[in-house]
Amino acid sequence: MRIAILQIGQETNDFNPNSATLADFAGYGIYEGAECLAKMRGTGQFGGCVDAVAAAGLAVEWIPIIVAWGMAGGRITTDARLFFEEKIVAGLRHAGKLDALAIHLHGACAAEGVDDVEGAQLALCRAIVGPDLPVVLSLDHHANITRQMVALSNAIVGHRHQPHDQYDTGRLAGQMLVRILRGEVKPVMAWRKLRLITHQEQYLTSRGPMKIWFDQARAMETDPRVLHVGNYPMQPWLDVAEGGWATVVVTDGDRALAERLADESADLAWSMRAEFMKMDSIPVDDAIRQADAATKGVVVLSDTGDTVFGGAAGDSNLVLEAILRLGIQSRALMPLIEPQTVAQLVAAGVGAQVTLPVGGSTSGFFQPLTVTGRVRKIAPGKVNVPVFQQPSFDQGQTVIFDVGPATLMISERSGSAGNVPDAYRAFGIEPKDYKMAVLKTASNFQFFAPISSEVIRVNTRGPGQSDVRGLPWRRVPRPIYPLDEIASWRG
Ligand SMILES: [Zn+2]
Repeated sequence: MRIAILQIGQETNDFNPNSATLADFAGYGIYEGAECLAKMRGTGQFGGCVDAVAAAGLAVEWIPIIVAWGMAGGRITTDARLFFEEKIVAGLRHAGKLDALAIHLHGACAAEGVDDVEGAQLALCRAIVGPDLPVVLSLDHHANITRQMVALSNAIVGHRHQPHDQYDTGRLAGQMLVRILRGEVKPVMAWRKLRLITHQEQYLTSRGPMKIWFDQARAMETDPRVLHVGNYPMQPWLDVAEGGWATVVVTDGDRALAERLADESADLAWSMRAEFMKMDSIPVDDAIRQADAATKGVVVLSDTGDTVFGGAAGDSNLVLEAILRLGIQSRALMPLIEPQTVAQLVAAGVGAQVTLPVGGSTSGFFQPLTVTGRVRKIAPGKVNVPVFQQPSFDQGQTVIFDVGPATLMISERSGSAGNVPDAYRAFGIEPKDYKMAVLKTASNFQFFAPISSEVIRVNTRGPGQSDVRGLPWRRVPRPIYPLDEIASWRG
């Protein structure tokens, strides 16, 4: 059997005005051909897929095309979009005769002028491989499921967990492929689009309404006719024409069953819409006082509005401003992604005391904050620490800058956005020495979990803010809950 395989991922945040370039992907590694197999061994959707096929005993010649991953961010540039399209086309044209295609994407990527980047990529694939080749698509469950995705693939599988388990999703895709290729199953899909978007505070699948919804999917899968039930609570920063939550049910040839379960799944999610909108985050001053008063650290302060893992720009200074204004003495660790500040501090040099404005330079959500601090360290930003599906990252030139009780890791690019303790350690900082750490994520606390005492969600504004009603939506279909009061999820 000959199976072509590729993996491309970027989650777009339409409220971050900075376009994501090819350099943003290159910072995490772009691999082609045989290098994909070597780099993704045992990791990511790609690695999980390859391992599952091997475990099933299917003899396969893999035709790896490309692996690329970009941190969530603004829409990808036309150049970046065309680069990947050209790689896909060239890879498939030179692939020879294929038995299947395994395509691993994020599912919520938009480009300049293109809402459904991944649907367009699938269309390119189908145009080359024809309508009959089995195509299995694996996605992040924060994907925006579109008509093209469903029409152009044989089966779609999505993450079953938040925090994500990309390897697990890749395994599901690999197992699905094996069963199709052995003639054991003939997948059919039914899907429902919901007129629903919610903030991310209830996105963990281990608790609350998301657990109930995902548990239902797993229960449905105990029926042997059901191959996969994918719930897709679309990430809440994608402002596109087909935006909204979805559910996709894959059965073995039983369309009526798939349709019925898709309705049941959509109905359950819709029935919990108010619970999905429940806020756990608290005002910034309250959060900092609570962290300061904690008996032990490290207290994680989740800067929800500036979630870089959700595509925000990482230029918020709201927590720093509050720490300085409130006269907090506890030590605090935080990232800042701001090339112009890096340049100024590099020019000043190690040991220099510098007064300058920090934050607020890129996203348009914040005002610069003038602070005085001392440059502790300047270093190149290549870090051999895995982040999600990539084995290392380059966050660009990086400055460690001490401002009162706060230590800022200021970098040119996102990197791991301070969400991974080992990234700080690469620059000589031990996060355990700090009472509080500001994380630029609203869900991915797993990296800090071994050293943190608690998580406080901070209700901050920004491109990832929980106040979804306050964001400048332009393209999502209306009416949609909670932007509009509507009685049904059906469009
Ligand atoms: Zn996701």
